[in-house]
Amino acid sequence: MFAEMEHHGTRCLHLMHDPESGLKAIIAIHSLARGPAIGGCRFISYPNEQSALEDALRLARGMSYKAALADLPHGGAKAVIIKPSQPFNRQQLMQAFGQMVDSLNGDYITAMDSGTRVADMDIIRSQTPWVSCTRQQGDPSPYTAKGVMEAIRSTVAFHSGRRSLSGLTVAIQGVGHVGSSVAQMLHASGARLIVADIDNSLAQRCAEQCSATIASPDEIYDAKADLFCPCGLGASLNQQTIPRLQVSMVVGSANNQLANDSAANALQQRGILYAPDFLVNAGGLIFVSMQYAGHSEAAIEQKIQQIGTMLQTLYLRSLSSRLSPHLLALEQARALLKHAEQLHTAA
Ligand code: NAD
Repeated sequence: MFAEMEHHGTRCLHLMHDPESGLKAIIAIHSLARGPAIGGCRFISYPNEQSALEDALRLARGMSYKAALADLPHGGAKAVIIKPSQPFNRQQLMQAFGQMVDSLNGDYITAMDSGTRVADMDIIRSQTPWVSCTRQQGDPSPYTAKGVMEAIRSTVAFHSGRRSLSGLTVAIQGVGHVGSSVAQMLHASGARLIVADIDNSLAQRCAEQCSATIASPDEIYDAKADLFCPCGLGASLNQQTIPRLQVSMVVGSANNQLANDSAANALQQRGILYAPDFLVNAGGLIFVSMQYAGHSEAAIEQKIQQIGTMLQTLYLRSLSSRLSPHLLALEQARALLKHAEQLHTAA
């Protein structure tokens, strides 16, 4: 376990098993150097405990990179609650998780992620103040989606010199909270959509609302489109799927889209412009962090718009250095974190 923490650069790992509620939860705190760590709580099924641990460690690291690149005063962390295979009481489970969060005395602020909803955050709030995305604060997904739209506009402008998204074909993988919101905005901008979701009812709903064509979760990789937009879970871009892509751009909300760093090179070799996920999907974190600190809606929107500008700079640097945007963004985030660690140690 320590080897894995070392590999991901994780500072602390907290585990909780509560026999009463059946809670099995992991909180991975990657860094506290820039401030208290913020990161969502994922509540999904895992094939085994090892994959849940791996998910928490990778996601926490991504949150540190995201906060550093967005210049937010937070470190990165992530929580994973393993969805019980037996019937469970959701209220009890979230209460127990709230107690776990509270025991960390503010080092970790939890939020929504795949599988959790605003109502869960309200239950957690009954146990701890260290939570956002409650009913009072709201769902960050529309803000994440706005950031994805900024990133899509910026990527399309850089790649094709187009200012309008009208007529662009986008293949969206996963139309849950973020994906469906992105689909609606793309549809309103005149884009053509192909959508897939492992929950067919969500794909159907999106198809009706946005005049989208439905592909199966497997077919979406072969969809003939301009842009692939991964909004499901991680590692969808890997050795098997990258050769199948029929697009020239990849921009989406999913965390950890690349199975590993070499997937970025594989995309570059195929001439596919890839927008680093931890830059693209920062809108939700920007919302959570800035709202928590009492900033105005206008200030939040303005910060989210900067995602597009940051991508333009990154693409230009990639063009001149021939290094992938992913590698350049990683280097930049790591340098910012290292600097923060040095200041933290010196203080
Ligand atoms: P969600 O659970 O609401 O939606 C994800 C959807 O993807 C689900 O409907 C699921 O059925 C579908 N899906 C999963 N794997 C799939 C596959 N292989 N093929 C097709 N569909 C698949 O989650 P969300 O909140 O919309 O988040 C989506 C992604 O964006 C996640 O990776 C999440 O970590 C990331 N993200 C979300 C936010 C946010 O504000 N919600 C912020 C940053 C990053």
